[in-house]
Amino acid sequence: MNFPFSEQENVAVFTCCHIIRENADIYYVSHDEDDGAWQFLCDLESHQSSDANIVSLKEIFELDNSIGELANMPLGYYATRVDKNSTWKEFTQ
Ligand SMILES: [Zn+2]
Repeated sequence: MNFPFSEQENVAVFTCCHIIRENADIYYVSHDEDDGAWQFLCDLESHQSSDANIVSLKEIFELDNSIGELANMPLGYYATRVDKNSTWKEFTQ
């Protein structure tokens, strides 16, 4: 599968330990307006800084190819979905 993002495959992105270690699904994706950073979180309401994990964009894409739908999401937007089989909905931050 082609890598759909314009960023390099090895760019560092933020995610949480639940997705990386506990196989939680991705429910929230943000593309930060200030620094262009991508963030991928599960559906827990609150995350502590100790939950943060840094992985490559390629690594998170391989975990869940559906985030490729968000490859063109502009800076300053975030996306959520109701469940793993729903389509992503994008919002401005
Ligand atoms: Zn989490």
